[in-house]
Amino acid sequence: MSSEQAIAALHWQHELLSSLEVGIVVLDKNFKIEVWNQFMENHSNKLPRSVIGQSLFSQFPEIDEGWLRAKAEPVFSLRSPTFIVWEQRPYLFKFASNRPITSASDTMYQNVTLFPLTNTHGDIDRICLLVYDVTDQALAKIRVENLNKRLEVMSRIDGLTGLYNRRYWQERFDKEYKLARRRERSVTVVMLDIDHFKKVNDTYGHQAGDKVIQSLADVVKKSIRETDLAGRYGGEEFVIVLSDSNAEGAYLVAERIREVAKQQRVEHDGNHISYTVSIGLSEHSIACPSAMAWLEMADQALYKAKESGRDQTVVANI
Ligand code: GH3
Ligand code: MG
Ligand code: MG
Repeated sequence: MSSEQAIAALHWQHELLSSLEVGIVVLDKNFKIEVWNQFMENHSNKLPRSVIGQSLFSQFPEIDEGWLRAKAEPVFSLRSPTFIVWEQRPYLFKFASNRPITSASDTMYQNVTLFPLTNTHGDIDRICLLVYDVTDQALAKIRVENLNKRLEVMSRIDGLTGLYNRRYWQERFDKEYKLARRRERSVTVVMLDIDHFKKVNDTYGHQAGDKVIQSLADVVKKSIRETDLAGRYGGEEFVIVLSDSNAEGAYLVAERIREVAKQQRVEHDGNHISYTVSIGLSEHSIACPSAMAWLEMADQALYKAKESGRDQTVVANI
C-alpha cells in the first residue's frame, strides 16, 4: 500500500469512527485513554486532545474506579468481553440525555460492552469500551414497569372506598389465617354492615347511599393501624383483620368505629344523613378449621347483632 493509500484508508476509518452513534473508547492497562471518538466528544464536551493520555478516572471522577477495575479484570485476564447493562447501572459516563424535553430523564441511559484488544504479539494490553445510548428503550421499559405496578395496586383496590376489594382481601385473609395458626399472638376478624341501608338508597337515592358507604370506609381507615387489613366485602359490608388484637381489644376498636360512624352526617342534596352499623367479631382460635370458618363466626356474630336490634357489637363465642 502506498503512503497515499494508507492515509486515505486512515481518513475513511476515522470518518467511520466519527459517524457511529456509539461511543468508542480505548484504554490501556492503566486505564489511560487512547481513543476517544466523536460520539464521546459530543456528549462529554471533552476534545480528544484533552483526554488522550489521561487517566479515565481523573477525567471522569463520577466513575466508580474499584468497580470498573473489577469489571475489566477478566477482560484482560480471561480475554472475554463483559457487559454493563443499564438495569445494573443506569450509566457509566454521566452524559445529558438528548431528549430532556420529551423524556422523563435528563441523563443518558447506557449499555456498555468491554472487550479485549490484542496487539501484534497476540497480547492483550488494551480494552475497548463501546457505549450505547439506550435511553429510549430504558424509559419505555421503566414506563411499562411503572404502569404494571400501578395496575397491580389498582386491581387490589375498591374504586368507591379505596379499601382492598373482596378478592384481594380474601387472598390476604387466607395468609393471615395460616400465620395465625403458627403464631402466639392473637388476631381478630371484624365484620361490619350498615343498618337498614336499603332505606338510605330508597329515601335519598343510590348516590347518597354511595356517600354513606364512603363515610363508613373513612371512619374505618381512621380507626385502624397500618398493620390491620381492611376491605370492602360486599355492597355495604366491610371486613377488618386486627393484628395483635384479642377479642377484648378488637371489641374496643369496633365500638369506637360504631360510635364515630353514628356521629357522622353525610351531606347530600341538602340532607344530612345519619347511619348506624352492626358489628360481629371473632378472635382466631386453633379450633377454626379454615379461614372461611373463622370468617363465618364473625358473620354469625354480626347476624346476632342485627337480630338483637342493630347498632351494636357482638363477640363470637369461641
Ligand atoms: P340490614 O340492617 O339488615 O343490613 O338492612 P339493609 O337494608 O342494610 O340490608 P342489606 O344489607 O341486605 O342491604 C344491602 C343493600 O345495599 C342492598 C343493595 O341495594 C345496596 N347496595 C349494595 N351495593 C351498593 C353500592 O355500591 N352502592 C349503593 N348505594 N347501594 C348498594
Ligand atoms: Mg345492611
Ligand atoms: Mg349487607
